[in-house]
Amino acid sequence: MTKDIKNMNYYEIEPEDNTFTDIVADITHRCNMECKNCYLPNRLPPDMSLEKFKEFVKRVPVGPKHAQRMFRILGAEPTLHKDCLGFVKAVLDAGHKCIILTNGLRLSSESYVQKLLDVGLEHIYISMNGVDRDDWYTAIDDMPCATKKLKALKNVANKFKLDIGCILVKGVNDDAPLRMVNLMKEYDIKNVTLRFKNVGQLGRYMAEIPDNWSMEDLVSIVAKQFNLSEKYIWDFYKINHRYHGAPEVCGIEFPVDSSQDPKDPKFRYNGIWIKLTDWGTDNEVGIPDPGNTRRGRITQDWKLAPFYEHVKRNEGGY
Ligand code: SF4
Repeated sequence: MTKDIKNMNYYEIEPEDNTFTDIVADITHRCNMECKNCYLPNRLPPDMSLEKFKEFVKRVPVGPKHAQRMFRILGAEPTLHKDCLGFVKAVLDAGHKCIILTNGLRLSSESYVQKLLDVGLEHIYISMNGVDRDDWYTAIDDMPCATKKLKALKNVANKFKLDIGCILVKGVNDDAPLRMVNLMKEYDIKNVTLRFKNVGQLGRYMAEIPDNWSMEDLVSIVAKQFNLSEKYIWDFYKINHRYHGAPEVCGIEFPVDSSQDPKDPKFRYNGIWIKLTDWGTDNEVGIPDPGNTRRGRITQDWKLAPFYEHVKRNEGGY
């Protein structure tokens, strides 16, 4: 059931009037994991219809005025949808950009990865909360899945624009940033964005606000482990997002190599970049980053709504 939340700026728009640069499509609510931090733990809603999605995508303007949109295909676990590849193709055929966000288990199959390449996908995000350690995966994701995650990493290495996501859970995987960068070196992955975030109190989660890392903590942890100054990292705070064109209060994105000019677009996917995201909900609306205008979510009735606001209003329902 949809909840009304006080002080929340919630709105819905038709796809023709889209203002979001990133559009989230939760194409299935099914999953093959049971992570302890999951903003979408409800498994009951039916899979999204590919035919209806195709009609929807065509209604989202593309072109100089509106620019290309980044469709984020996720779910729960998008690769479980029988038509997952069809969703990617529909987005690319309509002239938009596409990324799949996945837990990576399905990508441990080389032939599945080849199918993603064949359909034209260029950009993938894999969550790796435990990096290469089964004890961390068990503690955070309730599954000792390091072997499959590493196989997936090997299969996608240097074939896609690659993002790796990792939730930092206080007292569990505190060394994950350093371990992750060492893993990238071991797998000879030269260009990657490593995304570290704290726990978001949405859906199912394992840390309440007082037990969570803050953005200041994330900066301090990463600065120490990457031998960077905290000032170097904070200097990237509230600068315009690279394609949204406006600053983000919940994120800081920067290259590990401080000799790169981050404003030069040719460096964006060169080398190792870090994105720190504050998923904490310590504000009067109780969602990460209230009022964010970059990410929109496809609603059950094929409109667009601000992402976090829609997730919160439909928590446990959609
Ligand atoms: S976080 Fe992702 S992989 Fe984990 S249970 Fe939720 S949907 Fe599945």
